[in-house]
Amino acid sequence: MQQAGLTVHVDAGGNLVGRLEGATPGAAPIMTGSHTDTVFDGGRYDGIIGVLAGIEIAHTLTEHGVQLQHPFEVVDFLSEEPSDFGVSCVGSRAMVGLLSPEMLAQKSPAGQTLSEAIESVGGRPKELGRAIRGPGSVHSFIELHIEQGPVLEREQIPIGAVTDLVGIRRYRVVITGQADHSGTTPMDYRKDALLGASILIQATNAKARALNTDTAYVVSTVGYLTVLPNSSNAVPASVEMMLEVRSNRNSVLESYGDELFAQIHAEIAAEGLTLDASSVSYGEPALFHPAVVELIGDAATERGYVSLRMPSGAGHDAAYLSKIAPSGMVFIPCLNGRSHCPEESIEPEQLKKGLQVTLDSVLKLDTIAGFAE
Ligand SMILES: [Zn+2]
Repeated sequence: MQQAGLTVHVDAGGNLVGRLEGATPGAAPIMTGSHTDTVFDGGRYDGIIGVLAGIEIAHTLTEHGVQLQHPFEVVDFLSEEPSDFGVSCVGSRAMVGLLSPEMLAQKSPAGQTLSEAIESVGGRPKELGRAIRGPGSVHSFIELHIEQGPVLEREQIPIGAVTDLVGIRRYRVVITGQADHSGTTPMDYRKDALLGASILIQATNAKARALNTDTAYVVSTVGYLTVLPNSSNAVPASVEMMLEVRSNRNSVLESYGDELFAQIHAEIAAEGLTLDASSVSYGEPALFHPAVVELIGDAATERGYVSLRMPSGAGHDAAYLSKIAPSGMVFIPCLNGRSHCPEESIEPEQLKKGLQVTLDSVLKLDTIAGFAE
């Protein structure tokens, strides 16, 4: 960062921040950045290219003697992945005042609190009762990231202009039947809880497929099951599972579970089973600013690159920044859509295009004095 001409500090949330001053006194900064942490056994590009892109943009501006009107800030957000503390987006939450005391008290397996960990990297957790950056204090935010999915590569489109980030809702569902001998209990006499689980899995798959439109993105997954007694010679007595639904439409997240459970109620009851469900977590979708999304699309078009308006199915630091500043994201394809694995890969040419569009977007943002709501 220093070699690129940036002045560097660590903020109260443990974020590494580099800054180039702008020409207009008192102007709010244009911010870019992402994260340099990764998951265990993860790849080399998720997050990291977004930080390196910011540094490279600063380098380019400095090399060409270009001073923006606004200050330009590059942020390496602390711990975007859930890490040892089970809290994701630690730095970006802290920046906008959404890292709660309960989160700061979370402990790692070694017994260290998140608060202590933030202090150990130079942050000041005692100051995190309020936002480090309040609404209006950042002019705009843009993040370059790999897609972490297969769409851009499959469609052979080099640039994604991200419209919104999905919200996530998870339900704990327990289906209860009765354990019986698998040899002596005729089919008509069974209360097979796993059969009930399969009814729910089929139904949620069909429902999520049906809810997708050109603009509504909906995915639903049952990725966790505990079957009791889980024995090859017993009819399953109960199944506990996590049902996850992700969507960029909050209306979908609000009603999804109630509708699904009502839909399958009769079929579950007909098998002699009961279903208990409770909502265990609910994060709302984040909307990016239409003007920023459009400007990213324009920047791509002017370079002769095809771009696609698309939602993100994964969470990102930009979701939190969007709460205080007009924000947007640039996606580039990654090999086979793979991420969070060592096979994660991109081509230099793909990165070059993404970086060019991000730089051009920063230059366009610099011409905007203020955004309409
Ligand atoms: Zn990431």
